Amino acid sequence: MSSTIRPTVLLAALLASSVLVAQGPPAAPAAPRPAAPRPAAATAAATAADMAAQERLRGERAEDPNPAPARREGEGPFQRLIIRGVNLIDGYGSAPRGPVDVVVEGNRIAQVVGVGYPGVAIDESKRPRGATREIDATGMYLMPGLIDLHVHQGTQQKAPDSEYYNKLWLAHGITTVRGVPFASFDYSVRERARSAANEIAAPRYVVYQRPGTGWGRGTPRTPDDARAWVRWAKQNGADGLKLGAERPDLMAAYIDEAKKLGLGTTAHLQQSGVAQVNGRVAAEMGLGAITHFYGIFESMYDNHQVQPWPLDANLGDEQTRFGQVARQWSLVTPGSEKWKSFLKTLLANDVTLDPTMTTYLTGRDVMARMRAPWHERYTISTQWDFYISNRSNHGAYFYDWTTDDEVAWRNFYRVWMQFINEYKNMGGRVTASSDAGFIYNTPGFSTIQELELLQEAGFYPGEAIRAGTYHAALTNAKPTGRPIETGVVEAGMLADLVIVDANPFQNLKVLYGTGWERLNDASGRVESYGGVLWTIKDGIVFDAKQLLKDIEEMGNAQRRARAAGGTR
Ligand SMILES: [Zn+2]
Repeated sequence: MSSTIRPTVLLAALLASSVLVAQGPPAAPAAPRPAAPRPAAATAAATAADMAAQERLRGERAEDPNPAPARREGEGPFQRLIIRGVNLIDGYGSAPRGPVDVVVEGNRIAQVVGVGYPGVAIDESKRPRGATREIDATGMYLMPGLIDLHVHQGTQQKAPDSEYYNKLWLAHGITTVRGVPFASFDYSVRERARSAANEIAAPRYVVYQRPGTGWGRGTPRTPDDARAWVRWAKQNGADGLKLGAERPDLMAAYIDEAKKLGLGTTAHLQQSGVAQVNGRVAAEMGLGAITHFYGIFESMYDNHQVQPWPLDANLGDEQTRFGQVARQWSLVTPGSEKWKSFLKTLLANDVTLDPTMTTYLTGRDVMARMRAPWHERYTISTQWDFYISNRSNHGAYFYDWTTDDEVAWRNFYRVWMQFINEYKNMGGRVTASSDAGFIYNTPGFSTIQELELLQEAGFYPGEAIRAGTYHAALTNAKPTGRPIETGVVEAGMLADLVIVDANPFQNLKVLYGTGWERLNDASGRVESYGGVLWTIKDGIVFDAKQLLKDIEEMGNAQRRARAAGGTR
């Protein structure tokens, strides 16, 4: 979504700075006087700008969630962990094969050994030995840990404890998350280090930040400033940039400087800037990834250059904004010359499409999404409250949602999915991300739903899983110039793995934390099955079902606190 900073915080920052401009700085007798005083007006303006920048920095940090508690969960890493008899999904896209034994030494995969044939007893003499710990995964499925390239951490308003999102991610087999951003700059870098050291129960963090965050000098206004901020961001630990549709000269500077320094770039080409920087323009500037659909349709309009909004539209009204973007479906012609040439431009520039289709899914079927089976146990009260229609919470825009809005979204998905599928078929990289925490999208569940949506778009399940593993790993690694270390299961890779007791190729629903259900014809009863059993991150084995119990307890604790008169 477009922002983790609440409008009230920004407004407070703006008001504070305008008050200072109007009144001049307060008297500060203790401050040393400059040797050659500048004219009073210039000094006042400089000080006011400085105060505004500091105010902005406070605003960036105001909604940071509480840091994760010290890790109590997970076992390992082990000297020699052997996962026995499992069916392997390697992440490259091909069908499962097995049985194999997977040997993990410390935090790396040491060996993947074929140990026989389906339906034939395994010859014990040919299996790897010397395990210090074994997992009997006979008949189960093992795949690379999922990588979600578009997440945000919770906020004080939505989910004050970061442990909640961290555990939802791990419980769904997500072992790397790219925060665009997670929260403030320094918070994100600190939590990344704690996760890397396995001090907290969390996926690996990849830190992307918005222009001008963290440094306390405000938003860059010139290309030189933009480059200076990118250098500052690199020095202070960012992995990449989350851009909008910035002013073209700034956009070019951000992308160019990031490339020079080995930082990645991804952009949400929002409506306020897309008339200047659409997907085609950004791709030609060298942008790494386009997230969401913004800038894509605008690059292919048959008869427009700017979307023809209703004449009384106000982009600040989110029901109008999110309702009207879906109406773009009829402004483009699938297969047209513009359509084909834009796809070629994306491919020629090696742009990743990171669509986050799950983010907007509520617009297609609001009733179903409000009643998703996981909300009752796993969506905590503060997060639920944030979803409920409200004009100032981002994404809570169902003020009076209509059948006509849903029909527009269904048509929109049809065209959008065709575009995404064609890009994949041409050899383009498409990734599986969630942008959860808004619009009835609860983290973890949302990423699995994105895999289902990719299958709906025409992806073979192996291609959908590849989007959430190998292709996501490539997208993260490419700007750094280093080879991937996660995203596939093979010797030498980091041990980021998922074990589930049913076949995700046959049904991606088995990856939901809640699993799925089926009729047992022998008993005549409905039984539940699936759900990730173990998530292994950096060689540490997490019991995914226990993580879900912890999450449920966090929700119960909130409810008890409310019943006792608390404000959460
Ligand atoms: Zn987002």
